[in-house]
Amino acid sequence: MTSQHNQSLAERDLAVLWHPCTQMKDHAEAPPIPIRSAQGVWLEDFDGRRYIDAVSSWWVNLFGHSNPAIAEAIGQQAKNLEHVILAGFTHEPIVELSEKLVALTPKGLNRCFYSDNGSSAVEVALKMSFHYWLNKNGNQQKQYFINLANSYHGETLGALAVGDVGLYKDTYDPLLLKPITAPSPDAYLRESGESADDFADRQADALAALLEQHAQDCCAVIVEPLIQCAGYMRMYSPQYLRRLRALCDEYNVHLIADEVAVGFGRTGTLFACEQADISPDFMCLSKGLTGGFMPLSVTLTTDQVYDAFYDDYDQLKAFLHSHSYSGNPLGCAAALATLKEFEQRNAIQNNRQLAAYMGQKLSRFESHPNVADIRQTGMVAAIELTPDGSRQTEYPWQERRGLRVFKHGLENEALLRPLGNVIYLMPPYVINESEIDQLVDVISAGIEIAVR
Ligand SMILES: *Cc1c(COP(=O)(O)O)cnc(C)c1O
Repeated sequence: MTSQHNQSLAERDLAVLWHPCTQMKDHAEAPPIPIRSAQGVWLEDFDGRRYIDAVSSWWVNLFGHSNPAIAEAIGQQAKNLEHVILAGFTHEPIVELSEKLVALTPKGLNRCFYSDNGSSAVEVALKMSFHYWLNKNGNQQKQYFINLANSYHGETLGALAVGDVGLYKDTYDPLLLKPITAPSPDAYLRESGESADDFADRQADALAALLEQHAQDCCAVIVEPLIQCAGYMRMYSPQYLRRLRALCDEYNVHLIADEVAVGFGRTGTLFACEQADISPDFMCLSKGLTGGFMPLSVTLTTDQVYDAFYDDYDQLKAFLHSHSYSGNPLGCAAALATLKEFEQRNAIQNNRQLAAYMGQKLSRFESHPNVADIRQTGMVAAIELTPDGSRQTEYPWQERRGLRVFKHGLENEALLRPLGNVIYLMPPYVINESEIDQLVDVISAGIEIAVR
């Protein structure tokens, strides 16, 4: 196809579409890029230009675009049973997937409740937690949630409310639940000379003080384990999660682990909670769940929570929440094929080498005068740019420097999508070393353009 085709698709797009998380006026200058096909880590547009998908298409893709095994599984499923209502009915893929998820996730998470996106999985956890305390002992006092500064849990009103990224949230403030916000254990904020573990302990002490004051009014604490992804890929020590689990037990509030982004191997273990050896009361999963093929999400919880809803119908204790596409069989088939890929590729093990290679390559930026921090947890690595290389918490640059890296990337076969001044890599697990080399070279030149 020709670039004419490319252009006319973009024009037709701009006449009828409204893109997510986008100031559409920006597209007056740079129209959206129509992608014709994708294989492995490579996206290809209608001009035959190629881009390495360094961000896994918003963190969903694990084993490559158009992965043949996952595509085949979805195709087979579609010919047999594309969908069936999940209230009063069930199907084989969802039973098999649920058995696998219960077996793979931390101990005690024995029940799976399905929806179709990460925000909804969070909404389910919030509603279930609140409703649990109500069912359990008629406790209506527990109405609040504790969240972490700089956290992100999605865009629907409940999920947005328990997030803390002002850029997405502040506009809608009048509409939102008011959480109680604890300081983040984000290791970027530690004092110089302080270890990430010590800082985690200090921030856990601050959380303990909040719980001491508010626990009787609180349903749950919600966190993104180990990495605050949308919050500029800020990372923290597993020590915080250990303290958090103990504090939630001590103060009788739930722990909600939002592993929508970090689940399925991103942090180096299948689930991030494993690194602290903890089990949350709720775990939210989506994004990588289907290998990046289908919208599907699940909220796992414990027998204890489940049992508090189990009663005669007229007791009105049931969880009357549903989505039209809850537990869609195509999504479940994609998820099962994805779990098979983990096994057959020995992915968690292989990722260790890839992650080490990524870290080694990025270390070349350590002495760069504009690099304040290089951080990595498993298959997620980030570089924080500041005007003078000092660790700052404000983003004084109004010039959208990350955007320059993005543009430079597009001209050089790389889809990088910096968060503010943070450039990060969260690639599909099928990336190879020469593709990592290529990305790091593009980042290097991109940084020089950004800081100019
Ligand atoms: C992306 C994300 C969500 C929201 O998931 P959607 O599928 O985009 O609704 C929730 N929590 C975290 C941690 C996320 O990164």
